[in-house]
Amino acid sequence: MSISKREKKGIIRERVKKIIEVFDESYKEACCSLNYNKPHELLIATQLAAQCTDERVNIVTKELFTKYRTVQDFANASTKELEGDIMSTGFYRNKSRNIIKCCQMLINEFNGEIPDSLENILRLSGVGRKTANVVLGEIYSIPGIVIDTHAKRLSQRIGLTRNTDPVKIEFDLMDLVPKSNWTSFSHQLVFHGRQVCKARKPNCEECMIIDYCNYSEKVIK
Ligand code: SF4
Repeated sequence: MSISKREKKGIIRERVKKIIEVFDESYKEACCSLNYNKPHELLIATQLAAQCTDERVNIVTKELFTKYRTVQDFANASTKELEGDIMSTGFYRNKSRNIIKCCQMLINEFNGEIPDSLENILRLSGVGRKTANVVLGEIYSIPGIVIDTHAKRLSQRIGLTRNTDPVKIEFDLMDLVPKSNWTSFSHQLVFHGRQVCKARKPNCEECMIIDYCNYSEKVIK
C-alpha cells in the first residue's frame, strides 16, 4: 500500500523528533566552535570559515582580533595587509575584500552594529545564508538552520533531503525540524558529523541514531 506525501512527511518528522531526543542527550555541549568575544568578530570568523576548518580560523583570529579590535579597524584595513593576515584560511583575496566592505557597510548603514534581521544581514558584503543564520542564532538567539558541509552531508545520508543545494536543504530542514530546535540541531549535526558520521567513512556501527537513518538501511542491511 502506497502512502501519501503528507503521511511520508509525518513519518520523517517523527524520525527527526527521535533524532533530536538522542542528540539532546549525546551532544549537550554542542555549540558554535568559532571563538569570538564581540558580535562583529563572529561575523568575520564565520566569513573566514568558508572552505576552511573552524580550528584553523580560531588560530588565525587569535592574532587577527588583537590586531584589529573594532569594526572601524577592519573598515580602515589595507586589503593587501589583511590578505596576508588571513592567508592561511584560503580564498584570502575575496575574504579580505568582503570583510573590509562588510565593515564599511556596518558603519555607514547600520551604525556599526550587526543587523538583527535576515533581510538586512544578507545585504552585507560576503554574507550568505550560512553566515547570516550563524550570527543571528548566536548573537540574537533568532532560530536558523545552518547548512555547512556536515549538515549537508548528514541531512542527505539520514534521508531528510534529496536536494544538493544548501538553500534548498535549509528549507527542507526548516519544514521538518521544530523551529525552537533549528539552531541547536544545526550545531548537533556538526558535532555528529565530526565525531561519528565522518565524510570519508560514517561509523554506522557505533551511531546512536542508526535506527532513524536511511543510509544505514541501504549500506548495512
Ligand atoms: S547511521 Fe551511519 S550514515 Fe546514518 S547518521 Fe549514523 S553514521 Fe551517519
